[in-house]
Amino acid sequence: MRTVACVVVLGALLVAACGPSSVEVAPTEVTTPVIESVLPSTTTTTAPQAPTTTPTTTSTTTSSTTTIPDVPPELVLDDQGVPMNGQTDGVLITETGWVTPVLSGLAGGRHRVWTPCGRTQDIAGGRFVGSVDFVLDPGHGGSEPGAVGRGGLREADLNLDVTLKLRNALIDAGYSVMMTRQTDVRVPIVTRAEIAQALDPIAFISVHFNAGTDAVSATPGTEMYHQIDSPDSKRLAGLIYEESFGVLDQFDIRWVALGDAGTLVRPNREGGDYYGVLRRPAPVVSVLAEFAYLSNPSEEQLVSEPVVQQMLADATVKAIERFLTTDDPGSGFIDDPIFRGYGPSGAGRTTNCSDPPLE
Ligand SMILES: [Zn+2]
Repeated sequence: MRTVACVVVLGALLVAACGPSSVEVAPTEVTTPVIESVLPSTTTTTAPQAPTTTPTTTSTTTSSTTTIPDVPPELVLDDQGVPMNGQTDGVLITETGWVTPVLSGLAGGRHRVWTPCGRTQDIAGGRFVGSVDFVLDPGHGGSEPGAVGRGGLREADLNLDVTLKLRNALIDAGYSVMMTRQTDVRVPIVTRAEIAQALDPIAFISVHFNAGTDAVSATPGTEMYHQIDSPDSKRLAGLIYEESFGVLDQFDIRWVALGDAGTLVRPNREGGDYYGVLRRPAPVVSVLAEFAYLSNPSEEQLVSEPVVQQMLADATVKAIERFLTTDDPGSGFIDDPIFRGYGPSGAGRTTNCSDPPLE
């Protein structure tokens, strides 16, 4: 299920990402069904059920707004060998379905890209996307399952299901969307952050479910993390908290929560953002959502329901629309969060990473 979803998802994503021009092209094209058959207005009724992961993007759909330099740039690495974020502009959807930030266009329609593992590679084919309204990040994936509920639900799968619903709802609302992954694959955080920066979106939202506490609570333990230095991140997080907490709080189940659940920050040792998905894409308004506790069986059961996943997706869209159209401040703000530990500093985790075929 997870792997076959890729192509249709990608098609919808590309149609959404290409703006008004795709509306003219889409209805008349039947020879490239994966890209053209999924219009934003029909995505809610189109189940991701493509029979193959083989891409059908044709060379005629490839375009690039990047200029071609005489000497293509190389990825700049930090002292730990991890690429520095903020080096790319736009992404290439490779013919194998991967989202790769673009360092440079090359002669012959090729592109020099930042691979999923954070390496430089020159590849042919694919489709360039310069920017989108929102970049969505389903946390974990592949060899990194994230939290696993006692009933067996993997956070990576739940994150993807919720994010796909959120993506569809945003497309229905008229926004263009890119996801950092569309299947059950591992993408290092540094690459997720670069995808966000490369596309210069209104916001970057990383979708997660929590684990760890068994402190019973009368209300959901929803945690919405924002960037320490971004008032916009704080307001968006507060609005997503308000809407998603409101949805979950309708359910009378056994909740667990930390005492300071709410809209908050988690600093690292240096006073910056602890979470890489907030720190690394610093110029982009970013939010890390921990909607509920997957480690709590009653919550695992609740959020495994597609209708509840849809409610969370719709709540997030509502929060985004309030963020864009009102001055509402949001709520749930925790002035002095409990210390949650520093943990490893995190180098972006590109170690032991094997790049997939990109062409
Ligand atoms: Zn997670």
